[in-house]
Amino acid sequence: MRAVRLRALDAVELEDVPEPIAGLGELVIRVTAAGVCGSDRHMVSGDYPSTPPVTLGHEVEGVVVGGGPGSSLPMGTRVAIDPNISCLQCRYCRAGLFSHCTQLHAIGVDRDGGLAEMLSVPERQAYVLPASLPTGFGALCEPLACCLRAMDHAGVKPGDSVVVLGGGVIGQLLAQLARLAGARVFLATRQREKRDLAESLGAAATVDPGAVGFVEAVAGLSGLAPGGVDVALEAAGVAETFALAMDVVRRAGTVVVVGAAPKSAVVHVRPFDIFERELRVLGSHLNPLTHGRAVDLAASGQLDLAPLITRAVGLNEAPEVLMGEPKRGEIKVHVIPSS
Ligand SMILES: [Zn+2]
Ligand SMILES: [Zn+2]
Repeated sequence: MRAVRLRALDAVELEDVPEPIAGLGELVIRVTAAGVCGSDRHMVSGDYPSTPPVTLGHEVEGVVVGGGPGSSLPMGTRVAIDPNISCLQCRYCRAGLFSHCTQLHAIGVDRDGGLAEMLSVPERQAYVLPASLPTGFGALCEPLACCLRAMDHAGVKPGDSVVVLGGGVIGQLLAQLARLAGARVFLATRQREKRDLAESLGAAATVDPGAVGFVEAVAGLSGLAPGGVDVALEAAGVAETFALAMDVVRRAGTVVVVGAAPKSAVVHVRPFDIFERELRVLGSHLNPLTHGRAVDLAASGQLDLAPLITRAVGLNEAPEVLMGEPKRGEIKVHVIPSS
C-alpha cells in the first residue's frame, strides 16, 4: 500500500510499504480522510519531536477493515482516531493526567499514522462515528478535541468577551466554541481571508494584530472590550501574539496558550503584571479525555466545519503539501487516500 513517510528531517516521500497487521487489541483502519497539520510541518523541519522513519498523519478517520485478537468493533464501522496513546500505568496516568504520561507516544509521530491507505491502531484509540457524518469531519475531531481542552481550561461563561489570536483551524474552532459558550468573540489574525471567514462563522469583530493600535482597538476605553477581554486564547503559536494576549486581557482575566510556539521562542513578561493584575496564565496541550465529546459535537451539527476544510488532495500530492508553506487563506488540507 502507499504511505507518506517522514524518512529523516526534511525528507518526505510517498512509498510502497507492507499493509499493517492488527496486533492484540488492535484494529486495521482503511483511511477515508487525514488532515495535514502545522505540527506535521514542524516534524518535517525538526521543530517538533518525532521518531523517523515514520508514516505521518495524526488527524485520522476511517473504516474498520480488520481486527486482532481481543478487538470487538465490527468490520465496516466508521471511526475517528485519538492519536495520543498513554500507558495508563505511570504516576501521571494514575492521576488522570493522561497527556503528561511519561510513556506518551502518538500515532503519526512515533508510530505509523494515517497519511496512508491503512493503519493499525489500538482499539481504545478509536471513537465510533455516525454513518451520516460528512467525510472529513471525523478527522477534524482531533484539532477539535484539543480546542475542547483549551475551552475547559478557559472556563468561558455566557456574556464573557473572548479574543482568539490566530486564524488557523485551531483559532477558527475556538472562536466557534467560545460563541457556543455564550461569549462575544473577537478574532485576531493578519490574513484578511481568515478574518473574513471568522466573521462569516460568527465572530462579532475581527482585527489585524499587526496593525498599529491593536491593543487599544481591543482593550482601550473605546475598544471592542473596554478595559480588556475576560479571556484571551493564543492560537497562533507565536511569541509576539502571546505578549499581545497578556496586553488585551482584563484584570483577573485568563490567558490560555493553545498554539505551539517554536521551542526556542522567548517573550518578555513582567511578573509584577501577573501578580498585580492577578492574571491566570495556562497552557493547553493535546486532547486528554475530550475526543469523545469532539465526536458528539461534530455530529450535533452545532459547529460549521465544512468551511474549515479548504481543499482535499490525494496521497501523491501530500509530500508537496507537507514540504511547502500553507497557501494564503488556507485553513485545513485533507488527504483522501482513495482519490
Ligand atoms: Zn495536529
Ligand atoms: Zn502513563
